[in-house]
Amino acid sequence: MKLIVQKYGGTSVKDTERIKAVARRVVERAAEGNKVIVVVSAMAGETDKFIKFANEITSRPDEREMDMLLSSGERVTSALMAMAIQALGRKAISFTGRQVGIFTDSSHTKALIDHIEAGRLKSALGHDKIPVVAGFQGINEYSDVTTLGRGGSDTTAVAIAAALKADLCEIYTDVDGVYTTDPRIVPEARKMTRISYDEMLEMASLGAKVLHGRSVEFAKKFNVPLVVRSSYNDSPGTLVTKEDGEMEKVVVTGVAQDKNQARITIMGMPDRPGIAASLFNKIAAANVNVDMIVQNISHDDQATDISFTVSKTDGDKAFEIAQQVSDKLGTSGVNMNPDVAKVSIIGVGMQSHFGVAATMFETLSQAGINIMMISTSEIKISCVVAASQSEQAVRELHTVFELAKE
Ligand code: ADP
Ligand code: ASP
Ligand code: MG
Repeated sequence: MKLIVQKYGGTSVKDTERIKAVARRVVERAAEGNKVIVVVSAMAGETDKFIKFANEITSRPDEREMDMLLSSGERVTSALMAMAIQALGRKAISFTGRQVGIFTDSSHTKALIDHIEAGRLKSALGHDKIPVVAGFQGINEYSDVTTLGRGGSDTTAVAIAAALKADLCEIYTDVDGVYTTDPRIVPEARKMTRISYDEMLEMASLGAKVLHGRSVEFAKKFNVPLVVRSSYNDSPGTLVTKEDGEMEKVVVTGVAQDKNQARITIMGMPDRPGIAASLFNKIAAANVNVDMIVQNISHDDQATDISFTVSKTDGDKAFEIAQQVSDKLGTSGVNMNPDVAKVSIIGVGMQSHFGVAATMFETLSQAGINIMMISTSEIKISCVVAASQSEQAVRELHTVFELAKE
């Protein structure tokens, strides 16, 4: 008997017909002799709708209240899914994040899971019930509801699979698996049969929203076999697993883009030790993650420009802090560009190949796409470009690195 955690995303549970279809899939899997735990997202569009409501009330909603609001979408689907499974004659029970003991830190709207006390899950399984867990949420040390960041239900599923040492974690979504890039942008994108944890981690963290970045971190850390599949067909999907000798030997595996980016620039910052630390400490204290940072060489040893990127959702917050710091230090001014995107190429093969970065820059330049910032690691290269050009950049890079080829 295998223990399988199945997660169904928003489009897979977008209405009651889809919920019933998913329930049939779950029951079939259980009837094959498996123990199944289901994790569900909110119905498609619900989380966006809640965010819109909050923004209609205030431009800076309180993050604790935001989590109370956002977590409710998953709660609805978990109850409906449990009912749909029961209607098929199997025992099922829905749980919120709190009820299954998903403990997180207190960084509201992007909380990190600390540990899972899975007592109720184990007991439900012991009573032959199919647990249906509301994804995307946990509680902090004060018993306040937290959410795990957009797309976070994937992480709920993998974390539960890790905590219960499940044999498999299946992520059911609206595409057949992980492709060389978003198939909605590049229809010729190719589905991969397998991808390594490291490459998937980069793809996900760099914007391929098919998996939540943190879910891949958990899968890698606890060696959870992870499969991405469609809830609309029986295609085998993509296995995310340890790198091995049989994996495809390619230099570039995939292209990703992230449009949830904003760039902030402080001009004429005093150039002396401790200035960057004071700025970025304040930003970190406000629970904002900084991604890329570029500081210009100061020509006169007096002042320098510093640019950094944050997620667009945190843009206003980071901009305010940058302004406060700037007022205090006396700089030449601060500006924010919310119309930027990050385009990245990913591949473990890059480590042993020269010229990959040059090809990327040359390709973007030939397409008339200006690169505003660059960052590299052993297995990825990212460029910040104008948001209006990022899809074109993805297409050009997908072509030049021949990713559509079998
Ligand atoms: P769910 O609601 O099931 O969690 P998401 O919308 O979060 O689904 O993720 C699935 C979407 O991810 C796909 O519809 C696709 O447009 C997008 N996507 C981005 N990059 C990739 C990729 N490399 N492979 C597959 N899908 C991708
Ligand atoms: N409902 C949340 C979102 O839309 C979480 C998820 O679907 O994974 O981001
Ligand atoms: Mg998702």
